[in-house]
This record gives sequence, structure tokens and C-alpha cells, in this order.
Amino acid sequence: MIPIVSLSASELETWLAERGQPAYRRKQIWTWLARGATDFNAMVDLPASLRAALVADFSATSLRPVATSVADRGLTTKTLFELDGGHSIEAVVMRYADRSTLCISSQAGCPIGCPFCATGKFPFGRNLKAHEIVEQALDAERVLAGEGRRLSHVVFMGMGEPMANYGAVVESVRRMADPELLGISPRRIVVSTSGLIPRIAQLGEEKIPVTLAISLHGARDELRDVLVPINRKYPVRDLVGAAQAYAQKTGRRVSYEWVLLAGVNDTPRDAHELGALLRGKLAHVNLIPFNPVEDTPYHAPDRASIKAFKELVEGQGLNVTVRDTRGREADAACGQLHERVMRSRMAVS
Ligand code: SAH
Ligand code: SF4
Repeated sequence: MIPIVSLSASELETWLAERGQPAYRRKQIWTWLARGATDFNAMVDLPASLRAALVADFSATSLRPVATSVADRGLTTKTLFELDGGHSIEAVVMRYADRSTLCISSQAGCPIGCPFCATGKFPFGRNLKAHEIVEQALDAERVLAGEGRRLSHVVFMGMGEPMANYGAVVESVRRMADPELLGISPRRIVVSTSGLIPRIAQLGEEKIPVTLAISLHGARDELRDVLVPINRKYPVRDLVGAAQAYAQKTGRRVSYEWVLLAGVNDTPRDAHELGALLRGKLAHVNLIPFNPVEDTPYHAPDRASIKAFKELVEGQGLNVTVRDTRGREADAACGQLHERVMRSRMAVS
């Protein structure tokens, strides 16, 4: 069965024309999908014969939900999906007073292998196709619509390195931003990367001004080579240069992510190096307390150390926030539901 979202607008219109249907039916179908419809028969403004043809040829989504977890009294929900071919990925919906954010996956697994990250610990699976990324957003929209909410923000901070699946990620951003589908402004879409410099430069040329987040975690090569191994290929100074070129080109402030690992990158030396690296730049620093991952040597700093590090970085003239670690109690951070399911699968096999 072909997932309907894998067809472009013109491909779907061709399919409709072959069945004697006007092009505007495509827009009607997309409107239903954008509201999260998963049953072609429920698309009541389409002729019955067309609905039957859709059912015969297409699936509304290729994603199969296999597990969910809930945290923050229902404000955070995480879904593990199985993909065609058997790999699995996850997506997390976070509800706030003024917005609803989806944390989306771009790959099954991740080839970068950061030692503190649950996703990087399992063998790399495969790249997601653009429609598999968009389908995560459609599913979130379906869930949120049932609560009288709308999906307003998307962050590529689930499984995978989005810049290592560049074509599909850019295509999915265009689809999610399309006013005829989800209409989420690129400004409300964050692409987080471990730092593939050539792709950052390419993204700046796409005319889709997404917010760029750089997973920095270390301001000197010696440390970042260990924490984010791609640094050996693309050193930190060059990376910041590429990110600032992106900021200049798009007018978008870059977000720098810094996972706080006790005794590893939360010392006064790190705060000073970070200050020296980013001072005077169009930048915002997001400190993320480490979400514990089993079988890693890392620990989260205590509250006092987080506060002290934040103040030291602020003292260097940088904009800093500490990320809300929502979902921690129900393992909702990057990669962790997946890890639990993988472990239980390994235990039974
Ligand atoms: N691969 C991309 C996007 C997915 S990871 C990237 O690395 O940017 C999204 C963010 O979650 C990254 O900043 C990553 O460093 C962070 N992260 C990974 N594991 C984490 C953990 N155990 N605790 C807190 N943040 C983590
Ligand atoms: Fe991949 Fe990002 Fe995890 Fe690193 S932090 S292993 S780049 S998903």
C-alpha cells in the first residue's frame, strides 16, 4: 500500500485526473490529512467512488504506533512507531500554555555515536523518507486536534542526525510548512545538528528560514572530539563560523545546545571557553541537564552546579536559558523509550 503523503501535490493530482477527478480534490484530501484523518471513508465531502479508490490504492500513513508513554500528567506523550521494513522511531508531543511542540525523528538510529546519547548506542538503522517525517507531524496533529489544540512547533531533536538525511529533511520541512498541509512556519521549526558544516551552508541557500540549533556540548576540540565525534571532521571553530554565516544569511539567531555532564563540561574553564567562542555573536545558549542513560559514564550536575554554570556563562555576556527537562520521569528525552523497547526485545530474543 502506498502512503498517500509520499505523493507530491502534482503526483496526487495526476492520480485524480486519471480517475476523472478535478485537481481541487487534492486540496480537500490534504485538508483532511492535515486534521489528522486516518480513514479515507471519513472524508465525507469526497464522492463515494473516490473514497473507495483511495482506500484501494493508499494508506493514510505508513507509521504503526507500537508503544506510548505519558509524563507530566499528560502534558508530554511519546510514541514509538514501527516503520515499513521493521525499524522503529519515536516522536514526542509537548503541550504548553501557548504552544504545542513535536520532537520529531529524522533517522532510525544515528550514525554519529555521541557517547552520552541513547540513540547513538544502537546500530544505525536507516534514513527516514520525507513522508515518514511528515507523518509524525500529521499523527501529532491528529492527537492534538482531539484536545482542541494545534501543532505549532516542530523540533528535529528526536532520533537521528537531520543533516545526515538532508534531502528528506528539507523536503519534509517544505511539506510541513505548506499552507495547504500543516502550514507550520519554518521559523517555528528547529533543525538540530551535531555539525555537518557543508549541509549547514546548503541549508542557508534553501530559502526556508528554519531555526538552526547546534549541539555544541564542548567549546574546545579535544573535549568535543569525544562528546560529538563528528567534531574530528568538522572542528568547533569552523562549525561556529558556518552557523554564524547561516545566522547572517537568514537573520535567525542560532541556538547552541549544551548537555550538562557533571565534571566533564560544567566547569568554570568550560564556561569561559564557551564565552570566548560565542561572545558578540547572534547566538542563544540552551543548557540541557543530562538525562541519564544507562551504561554511560556520565551524570547530571546538581541544581547548584547548573545555576553556577549558567551564571558564569551569563557573566560572559551570552543569552542563556536552562531547558525544561520535561518528560524525564517517563524517559521522554532523545532516544530513551526506544532504548527501553530495544532492551526488552533483546531480553526476550
Ligand atoms: N542529532 C541531532 C538532533 C537529535 S539529538 C543533534 O545531536 O543535534 C537532540 C538533542 O538532544 C541534542 O542536542 C543532543 O545532544 C541532546 N541529547 C542527546 N542525548 C541526551 C541526553 N541523554 N540528555 C540530554 N540531552 C541529550
Ligand atoms: Fe546522533 Fe544527536 Fe544522539 Fe549525537 S546526540 S548520537 S548526533 S542523535
